[in-house]
Amino acid sequence: MTQTLYADIILPLAVRGRFTYEVPGGIADILQPGMRVIVPFGSNRLYTGIVCAISSNKPEFRNVRIIKDLIDNSPSINEFQLKLWSWISEYYMCGEGEVMKAALPSEISLNSFKPKQETCIKLVRNFTDDELNKFLDSLKKAPRQQELLITYLSLSGYVSGITETIVRKSVLLSEAHAAPNTLDTLILKGILLSYSQPVSRIAASGINTKPVKKLSEAQLVAYESIKKQLNEKDIVLLHGVTSSGKTEIYIHLIEEQLRKGRQVLYMLPEIALTTQIIERLKYHFGDQTGVYHSKLSDAERVEIWRKVAGDDPSGNYRLILGVRSSLFLPFKNLGIVIIDEEHDGSYKQHDPAPRYHARDSAIMLAALHNAKTILGSASPSIESYNNAVTGKYGLAELKERYGLIKLPEIILANTREAYKRKMMVSHFTPELLHAMDDALGKEEQIILFQNRRGFSPYIECSECGWIPVCIQCAVNLTYHKSINRMVCHYCGYNTGMPSKCGNCSSTGMVTRGFGTEKIEDEIKLVFPSARVARMDQDTTRSRNSFNRIIKAFEERRIDILIGTQMISKGLDFENLTVVGVLNADNLLHYPDFRAHERSFQMLEQVSGRAGRRSKQGRVVIQTSDPDNRIIRLVLRHDYEGMFRMQAEERKSFNYPPFSRMVRINIKHKDRALLNHYSEILGKDLKQLFGKRVLGPESPVISQVQLWYIKTILIKIEREKPPAKAKQLITEAIERVEKEKGASALRIAVDVDPY
Ligand code: ADP
Ligand code: ZN
Ligand code: ZN
Repeated sequence: MTQTLYADIILPLAVRGRFTYEVPGGIADILQPGMRVIVPFGSNRLYTGIVCAISSNKPEFRNVRIIKDLIDNSPSINEFQLKLWSWISEYYMCGEGEVMKAALPSEISLNSFKPKQETCIKLVRNFTDDELNKFLDSLKKAPRQQELLITYLSLSGYVSGITETIVRKSVLLSEAHAAPNTLDTLILKGILLSYSQPVSRIAASGINTKPVKKLSEAQLVAYESIKKQLNEKDIVLLHGVTSSGKTEIYIHLIEEQLRKGRQVLYMLPEIALTTQIIERLKYHFGDQTGVYHSKLSDAERVEIWRKVAGDDPSGNYRLILGVRSSLFLPFKNLGIVIIDEEHDGSYKQHDPAPRYHARDSAIMLAALHNAKTILGSASPSIESYNNAVTGKYGLAELKERYGLIKLPEIILANTREAYKRKMMVSHFTPELLHAMDDALGKEEQIILFQNRRGFSPYIECSECGWIPVCIQCAVNLTYHKSINRMVCHYCGYNTGMPSKCGNCSSTGMVTRGFGTEKIEDEIKLVFPSARVARMDQDTTRSRNSFNRIIKAFEERRIDILIGTQMISKGLDFENLTVVGVLNADNLLHYPDFRAHERSFQMLEQVSGRAGRRSKQGRVVIQTSDPDNRIIRLVLRHDYEGMFRMQAEERKSFNYPPFSRMVRINIKHKDRALLNHYSEILGKDLKQLFGKRVLGPESPVISQVQLWYIKTILIKIEREKPPAKAKQLITEAIERVEKEKGASALRIAVDVDPY
């Protein structure tokens, strides 16, 4: 009799560890790691799980349950993915099941997929030149049909006679400026034929792919330096000022890898940025380029998944442009991972687990594939730059803009002075208005940036200062003019406008603060003939709204674009010359050890949008504190100065990168019990880690959705491997969770919190 086998299985549950099941004899010789199986769990539930290991070791517990069914006939999850999941779960202190939930498109069947079809046009048969000429002559009275046919002949390569190219219906109609019924007539007349073709096979015919651009001298130096350093190092940081052509360098690196037949992952922190870059990539690499982000439908995710796995008969993706979750795609042979805007905080997932940092996890992913990593930024994170100056990473620099265009001139506008002298027009200083007026006069475009954090509009009692807050969270409700309601940005609770003060019953309720919506209204009053648009979370809910707004701005149908973070980074507009930062103060004063680094990065990024093509741009920064150290550094575009200052500060306070941080978030619906248990955990941890434990304390937002919150911060020494410390932390958490009455406690661990 053959030996019984046991399989370790990951289930999509928020628990640590794997589950062991017995492998039924019928599938013992075909079961492999990475296959999906159905297993019983609990009293009467069935789950789809992923097999991650198979052995003949009988588990110690009795009543081992049996796998109920096998879904796949080949692994759905490859070995690189299984290793990455396991690394993320260990490093970020969460269960592999939680990683699985984040990694797999929700509840999808990876096997059902039909390739997307596209309608194409061809001649019904091979005609002789004579026949075609006769036919064209006969269309003299139908010039639209004639034109359409001529366009077809030229697009299909018939005229040149060299290459035969597949012609998409949509391309044909737009190139010929023809209506569909014109085409229908030609089909009825028996000359053209419409048929469907899987989309990607069309790409294989090479439509729209253009050779990469020639690098400038400075770019070439940086490119060669990257290549040289990659011989010795796995990771190179490309520090290049905004608009220096980092993207062009990536494109060269990508081309090289694709030529070698390897896959490329190109990561961006935000979906808004994918819109422009995808066009630049498709221009060079055609439809072997896929884009992966959070606004795709499940069906589209499945399609991309298959095309990355390389088992789509209609054609595969070899280059993926994506946001953080794209690192979970089933890559088979990555050659290089590019992480653009590597400093960006959006790479870190906050909630739920896995609370992973996509940059750091992608570096791990690249290592698993024996691939290289390029980190790129105009203002690198202190962590990455520190790794570069200490020699752990390579470093390549680009200090000039492409075309030798000067970095934008920074103009500081002192809001305190302007208010005092009554020079402000609503929220705008004379400096900003002057620059805007000037740009509009020259038909140039403007971006106004308003940081989301802090300055959202709220309602206040003009008598006693009472502010309506969310009934579930301890935060001010934000006023939304378009729906005339107050909304909680943490839990979504919303309510109508109060007619009187909840404290003193006065009817003098007024709006305070200003968000992008308010700015938009005011700008329309100041510049009534300007075309104004807004890009923020409210205006970009639907999946095509990014594209629409960006396209409209590119095509100069918008003069002034107002927006949040979304418009601050990466975008490349030819005619944009003025950038206004409406309030830099709330960036600088956020209570966080990264606040200064972040403000510098954000100001540098948003400034970087101005004057990218032909002339120097102007940036007006409105602040009440123009002598602030960070503002002074931004004025000189002095990244190194900012790095030195921050590195020194962090070293003396033992913040990352000079320590590792683990934050423990503890929640309970009862405030007294929360205090009780978080004290117990805090004491326990202090016995283990001494002074490196901070807290428990109440965070800035100390209550969300009826849950009270406490946090404990632990700084772990850099020099020692973190696994031991993490083990001790896990054990301490498990101890407090076992305390009497602690079952309603929620504890979440965040490694390298942002
Ligand atoms: P970055 O990524 O550093 O912000 P980009 O790659 O977007 O810079 O380059 C800025 C602009 O200059 C883009 O419009 C880009 O097309 C153009 N550009 C950069 N390098 C070249 C080049 N070698 N040839 C032609 N255009 C270039
Ligand atoms: Zn709320
Ligand atoms: Zn009041």
